[in-house]
Amino acid sequence: MLDKVATVGIRGRAIVVVASLIVCAVLGASVSSALRTNRILSQNQQASIEGYGSSLASAIELSLAVGDVQEMKRLAGSFIELIPDVSFIVIEDQDGNPKAVETADLSSYERYVAGQLDPKAYQVSRVNVEAMASGLLYEDIGIYTDDTRDSNALNTHGSIVIVVSNHGLWASQNAQWKALFVTLGVIMAISMPLVFLFVTGWANRLTALIKFSQYITTGDYTHEMIATKKDEIGKLVDAYEHMRVAIRERNDSEQLRQRELQEARDQADNANQAKSQFLAHMSHEIRTPINGVVGMLELLSMTQLDEKQRKQVRTATSSADSLLCLINDILDFSKIEAGHMQIEEVPVDLYDIVESVAEMLAHKAIENGVELICDLGTNVPRNITGDPTKLRQVVINLVNNAIKFTSEGEVVIRVGCDARDEQSCDLRISVSDTGIGIPKEQRDRLFKSFSQVDASTTRKFGGTGLGLAISKGFVELMGGSIGISEDREIGSEFWFTFKAGISDNIAQPNSIFEGVLENMRAIIIDDNQTNRDIYMEALTNWGLRPDAYPDGYTALEALRAAPAEDPFMLAILDMQMPGMDGVQLADAIKGDKDINTPTMVMLTSMYHTADSDDLVNLSLAACLQKPVRLSTLHDALAQYMSDGRQVVTRMSNPDTEGDNQSLVGVRALVAEDNSVNQMVIGELLKSVGIIAKIVDNGADAVSEATTGEYAFVLMDCEMPEVDGFEATRWIRKQELTNNQAGRIPIIALTANAIQGDRERCIDAGMDDYLTKPINAKKLFATLRSWNREAPKTQTKTKPLGAQPTLTIRNGFSVQSEQIDMEGALERCAGSKAVLKMVFEEFARVTTAIEEKLVALAQSGELTTIASEAHSLKGSASNIGADQLAAAAKSLEHAAKAQDLEQVNHAVEYVTTGIQSVRKALPGLIESLQRAA
Ligand code: ADP
Repeated sequence: MLDKVATVGIRGRAIVVVASLIVCAVLGASVSSALRTNRILSQNQQASIEGYGSSLASAIELSLAVGDVQEMKRLAGSFIELIPDVSFIVIEDQDGNPKAVETADLSSYERYVAGQLDPKAYQVSRVNVEAMASGLLYEDIGIYTDDTRDSNALNTHGSIVIVVSNHGLWASQNAQWKALFVTLGVIMAISMPLVFLFVTGWANRLTALIKFSQYITTGDYTHEMIATKKDEIGKLVDAYEHMRVAIRERNDSEQLRQRELQEARDQADNANQAKSQFLAHMSHEIRTPINGVVGMLELLSMTQLDEKQRKQVRTATSSADSLLCLINDILDFSKIEAGHMQIEEVPVDLYDIVESVAEMLAHKAIENGVELICDLGTNVPRNITGDPTKLRQVVINLVNNAIKFTSEGEVVIRVGCDARDEQSCDLRISVSDTGIGIPKEQRDRLFKSFSQVDASTTRKFGGTGLGLAISKGFVELMGGSIGISEDREIGSEFWFTFKAGISDNIAQPNSIFEGVLENMRAIIIDDNQTNRDIYMEALTNWGLRPDAYPDGYTALEALRAAPAEDPFMLAILDMQMPGMDGVQLADAIKGDKDINTPTMVMLTSMYHTADSDDLVNLSLAACLQKPVRLSTLHDALAQYMSDGRQVVTRMSNPDTEGDNQSLVGVRALVAEDNSVNQMVIGELLKSVGIIAKIVDNGADAVSEATTGEYAFVLMDCEMPEVDGFEATRWIRKQELTNNQAGRIPIIALTANAIQGDRERCIDAGMDDYLTKPINAKKLFATLRSWNREAPKTQTKTKPLGAQPTLTIRNGFSVQSEQIDMEGALERCAGSKAVLKMVFEEFARVTTAIEEKLVALAQSGELTTIASEAHSLKGSASNIGADQLAAAAKSLEHAAKAQDLEQVNHAVEYVTTGIQSVRKALPGLIESLQRAA
């Protein structure tokens, strides 16, 4: 009910209120006037009865006094005629006895007599008949005696009862009420339409005003409102209208500003987008030619060069590398700026990240004459969660800078844990150096892009000024902060902190030597204080009892002074120390009869490695290259203590790294449209003996890859018509349709180093990802790992006899031919004499075959080549020259496929193989002859 009332509009309420007021006012006034009128009527009636009563009393005084009933009746009868609405008149004597009765309504008299007269319907008036006449008169007529005269003058002779019916009065009163209601009705009838009219007018104007204000509140300022009257509502309308105009003007200018802002933002967004695209595009475009440059330089460096040429190649390579770093930096920076950089959250081996960076940059530090030290606090968790790539890059940036700006002393990477619970830890990684330092006033702006301490430093040290800005971006994305320590006297210290989750996903490598070193007494001799501190702490943690000395002389004294029952069992010697170096000290220890020679471990730098002779001569337990991972030091010490095995670690050397022999003869498909890249990749693959088929589009890649002839595919991502992603999807689809048992490994080759590219490649069905410019080391390592898993196309060979290494025309070293003597003998029914003949025949038939094959390839006579290769394949298999047979088979295949380029490659391998076999044959023939 109340709800309904609440929804009644203002017009309804106003009408109800005004109408109620009118009704109340009119009704109140009318009712009060009617009541007053009725009261007057009633009083008038009373007064008139009393008047008649007095007159009658005067008239009948004497008759009553003398008891003249007739006269009394007559007089009463005449009054009956006069008094309106009279019902009866009774004249009573002094004792109240009726003397004369005159009725106009007998029944009412009877009810009066019976005492049943309704007092409301009748008005009963009693008038005393007083003895008003003079005493004389009474004397004359002898009614009163003298003694009673005085008192009789006021005596009552009786009374007159006049009963009047109220019906007449009521009729008048009713008429009065009727008139009242009629008047009220008339007033309402006249006033209500007027009220309705006025109220509706106001209500309509208010409603219009409400609608108007609603337009304004909803932001529609187009509706105008003009006041039609100058009353309050009119003024309100005027005020609203002013407000509307003011808001519209402000809104228009605001909208204009917004539009301009939006346009500016759109332009900025577009520009940013264009910049990002441009950078991505440029990065791709620049990477492609650099790929050519780096690849070619890599190939060039594998050839025989004189010292000057080698230096030139090195300079060119380092320039290309710098250019690549610059492109990577700009790309990273633009991604951070555009907000496109995302952070991974995966399990990370923190120790490995820090120690591998130290290992990676150790040679740079050594070149600068700087000691690179890694200090991992004991409470630092090994397994954390985070973004390994970004974390690594920040550490690399800081360490690189520290080494770059330090020419002597040390660079220390320190990892600490400020707070730690079961789930997370607050890590602090700092890199301090003893270099040129940074003036206080310059520190603030270093983390801004392209800022360097000054131009001269830039010229001296090079660099883009982006490294710290990128590091800051990465650290902030990790939710941490980065800064420079204020209170350094020498050099500078950069630090960054971040919260890392603690992961239980990486298995903690438990040392198998746990507890072996327990309670041993050890001596550390190192001129570097930081190193001494670190080793002291580490050795103490492993349960040893270490002492540290800064040079050989004091150490020798301590060693001599050690009691015989508790000698130093273990000595950790730094190789490079002023005065007495590590080797001299070890010699001195060994040669001193007062010293119980401890087990010695030498810590060396890249350029001062101890060779195995040193290990033997000096009785060294281990010779470890710095920076040494503490876990490596522990295990080397413990291993020697447990089984006497010596350990030598060396810095990785790209020239000697990796054994690519497993790749010889492997067939690979390369899909690449860029001719320079084709050449680089082709040559790189050829250099390790891979037989590569190169196609320049995705469609050919699909048809080739599904032939089952290739061990893996190197797939460029961006190619015309069918790109690498599409081609990969097709290959995977066909493998499924053909119900192939395994799937061919597809390795993406892309110039895009954009976030998400790797995922795109993997999503498309590729297995691995290599970025251009191709790094030969990485390429071969990747191929080796996939080749292990891929089905082999080359025949396995069994080693026998000497394995001379041959050098083919372009100077690359390849695996020499190996001859499966057992297989060959078997095929000759075990007869060495027959095998000797077979060898001789092989030598004869292949005498001029290299020249012949080269000539045929040059003249493009592929059919002849195919048949020559076919017969060579057979004879090579006969003598157990399986590798040569495989190469001949490839040649046959390439010739049949009319692939001139592959034919040329294969001819090269075949001729190399033949030469290799021929070189081995005389020795083999001789041995067979001897045996026969
Ligand atoms: P870049 O090293 O490529 O110039 P960075 O952003 O990494 O760019 O460094 C910016 C500048 O900060 C450097 O040019 C150098 O002036 C200064 N700087 C950084 N690290 C050090 C350091 N360890 N010692 C002295 N100066 C440093």
